[in-house]
Amino acid sequence: MLKKQLIDKAQPHYEENQVLELDHAVDVATKAHRGQKRKSGEAYITHPLAVASTLIDWGMDIDSVLAGVLHDTVEDTNITLPEIETLFGRDVAFLVDGVTKVSQARAGMQDLENYLPQTKDNLSKLLIAVGQDVRVIIIKLADRLHNMSTLQYMSKEKQKKIARESLEVFAPMADRLGMGRVRMQLEELAFSYLEPVEYKKLQNLMKKRLGRSTRKLGVVRAEVEQELKKQGVSAEINGRVKSMYSLNRKLKKVDGNIDDVYDLMALRIVVETKEDCYRVLGILHALYQPMISRIKDYIAIPKPNGYQSLHTTVITPTKQIVEFQIRTYEMHNYAERGLAASFHYHDQKDSKTYVKNRAAAALPAHLQWINQLQEIATKLGNNEEISQDQLRVDLFGNRIFVYSPKGDIFNLPEGALPLDFAFLVHSDIAKHAYSFRVNGNIHPFDKILHNGDVVEIVTRKLSQPKQAWQDLVTTTHARNKLRMQLKQLGVISSITSAANIIRQKTMRRKKTS
Ligand code: MN
Repeated sequence: MLKKQLIDKAQPHYEENQVLELDHAVDVATKAHRGQKRKSGEAYITHPLAVASTLIDWGMDIDSVLAGVLHDTVEDTNITLPEIETLFGRDVAFLVDGVTKVSQARAGMQDLENYLPQTKDNLSKLLIAVGQDVRVIIIKLADRLHNMSTLQYMSKEKQKKIARESLEVFAPMADRLGMGRVRMQLEELAFSYLEPVEYKKLQNLMKKRLGRSTRKLGVVRAEVEQELKKQGVSAEINGRVKSMYSLNRKLKKVDGNIDDVYDLMALRIVVETKEDCYRVLGILHALYQPMISRIKDYIAIPKPNGYQSLHTTVITPTKQIVEFQIRTYEMHNYAERGLAASFHYHDQKDSKTYVKNRAAAALPAHLQWINQLQEIATKLGNNEEISQDQLRVDLFGNRIFVYSPKGDIFNLPEGALPLDFAFLVHSDIAKHAYSFRVNGNIHPFDKILHNGDVVEIVTRKLSQPKQAWQDLVTTTHARNKLRMQLKQLGVISSITSAANIIRQKTMRRKKTS
């Protein structure tokens, strides 16, 4: 990637003064990295330029692109953060600082068996950086993607280490941000380095299979295309091939028999409106026999990361099994680009609101975890205690959606309990919780919530938080609020002692389990 290529690419998308700023940033970074080389022998500057180019592809705002150009200068050259602030403003400096902190935190992650950063200090840096502005992670993902695509120049040992980390830390992060395509790219690359033999084997297996099924699938596709046209639905149909990494995972589930993998190749139908999605589903089911257990409505109930689509698997009269994914253009865009789509250069207003509030209320329900992340970051910033267990739950656990009786959606980690929900709704309501109704039935406080549950909090004015509740909350948010309430009631004396109680409890629980 050369300077001219980058500028040409940016030109159509950003304002004139923004492109000038980019031009300036490239000059500053080029000068700073002068003499440095990548392992490939190329000039170092090719790397930050590639990262910036990816950020433009993802449609990120100009501040992110500038930070992409400058992302390695503070760590690897003589340039200082105040200099970046003077030249490019506070926001760019903030992003570069965040990326630098994440790298420094990574340097402390020696033990990959336990992929969370080991020392509290590094962990704090990572969280504070990410919690304050999620664009830091998006830049980091672009950085990681380029490093993964140039991994062949590294030593075998380094390759494995970086690939593992990508698979266990960065791919899940991309997934959490709804960035499906990046997640897949990272997984594919990592898998090819971690299990090269298996990867080759699957590639060959796939090639053999696809040759046969592509022809058959072409027939189905033409048939569907014709039927949609007849019914007056305008749609785009594409084939999508399963990635090696996810095929590998699937094969492990079905004892290695590729004939049991139904979505090796799927047809993706993209339409204008949500109504069209359901119409298309109806048309398909009238045309072919659906497999009842494989109809999934991720439009009505999106995946926890915000993914939306209808999935169905059908059997054609010639006994072919075909999976369909039906979605709108908007859903398709989100499935591919996820949170990055919120910072689109065409929607500068949105990203400005975000920058102003930094992860505040503007985020949709499925991204509420970012707010929760910020809470942890603040806590760490104040040197408060936090256990590794809590972090694992809050940051890397799977998420579920729970509804209030009024239909408001709340996002919680898997394994959350009714009190976690109550504290998310409002701590004053949680305070007076007397019992819980889950899907209409009264349940005890230790009932584990599931995706799609409707939870109602029954309150009594005289009901008060109890010390035993500390065992009945799992999220950091609920734990914090509860601790404050207990302190106010004089049930526990100070923050430190509460932290100790919690720690002892977690340790005890670990020993007994
Ligand atoms: Mn870099």
